[in-house]
Amino acid sequence: MKQLFINIKELLQVRENKVDKLSGTEMKELPTIKNAWLLIEDDKIADYGEMDSLPEINADKTIDAEGKIILPSWCDSHTHIVYAGNRELEFADRINGLSYEEIANRGGGILNSAKTLQETSEEEVYQQSAKRLEEVMKLGTGAVEIKSGYGLTEEGELKMLRVIKKLQKNYELPIKATFLGAHAIPKEYKEKPDAYMDLVIEKILPKVAEENLAEYIDIFCEKGYFSVADTHKLLSAAKKFGLKPKIHVNQFNAIGGIQAGIEHDALSVDHLEVMRPEDIESLKGTSTMPVALPSCSLFLSIPYTPAREMLDSGLPLALATDFNPGSTPSGNMNLVVSLACIKMKMTPEEAINAATINGAYAMELSETHGSITKGKKANFILTKEIPSYTFLPYAFGTNSIESVFINGKMIE
Ligand SMILES: [Zn+2]
Repeated sequence: MKQLFINIKELLQVRENKVDKLSGTEMKELPTIKNAWLLIEDDKIADYGEMDSLPEINADKTIDAEGKIILPSWCDSHTHIVYAGNRELEFADRINGLSYEEIANRGGGILNSAKTLQETSEEEVYQQSAKRLEEVMKLGTGAVEIKSGYGLTEEGELKMLRVIKKLQKNYELPIKATFLGAHAIPKEYKEKPDAYMDLVIEKILPKVAEENLAEYIDIFCEKGYFSVADTHKLLSAAKKFGLKPKIHVNQFNAIGGIQAGIEHDALSVDHLEVMRPEDIESLKGTSTMPVALPSCSLFLSIPYTPAREMLDSGLPLALATDFNPGSTPSGNMNLVVSLACIKMKMTPEEAINAATINGAYAMELSETHGSITKGKKANFILTKEIPSYTFLPYAFGTNSIESVFINGKMIE
């Protein structure tokens, strides 16, 4: 099946030669073709070019994209889409003056979601999560990572990971699974947190590996959650099962999580709202992708990742949603791209690069996703008629997407 898009106002992120990620000043450049055509053959990008040089193509379907822009679909490398119930009551508590930490101390927060998850059947968790996944696909997400971490028991964690596995089976977009058993310390382990680490490492982790339920390992390395020593211990254990680290660090405090991640060749270090000069220094020259989650900063009213400082130091940066019931009940990558421009002073080019090719890198998908390149998967967004690509982050809150294609098929 050949689908030909013609008269495309601008085709974005066209990379003739494959790149795996972009860093520093490279991110300022977003290669495009104006007045372009794009040929999709089955599930892949077959060819593209300028309208002036459109060859004769026997297409099964021709789509006129006059006035519209095509860009690769968003690659959201950090989400917690699989969960049960919502926490809008805590949202009201926060408006009434309680802090994230105070809510956590009252048994709210992650532990609240864990309780609901444990009490909800696997089928029901699947149904709720599938609905959210379909919602973000319609918002232009064409590849996604999903974490466990609301189980916090052997049964709960495996339940979440099995739900992710079922989503992988039933949906065409790539879904990467991450085991986040070390997300919070359950109430019954409050006085003996080491015993919970032992449970995660000795009991749950081997089961996760045995059932092949995750590719990545994650931990919330933060004061009041898990220490740098815990992080080293978990990442070392996970390495034996072939799980690569993608970890939560530097959200509220800089305690050395970045350095621990780098030591274990982390694929990504995520959050990074609090960055010391030595944290930026440590990331230089490594293969670890820093990931910023600006909609979490918006929702919690905490600082934004200092993207400008990081990019100007030559680092790469990816953008993701952190979609979760507590700190980011939104999986809208369009909003993330807007916030990156508005709040983090990233240029539209940098933000689009961060949300496509660098997001793909943070899921080990650069080979197949994240750019318009011959042979890559046909996962892309067709916009409505808009004046320019800068309009996308500028018109924040406006849905500029007309349709989304995954593996060459339009999402209904
Ligand atoms: Zn997260």
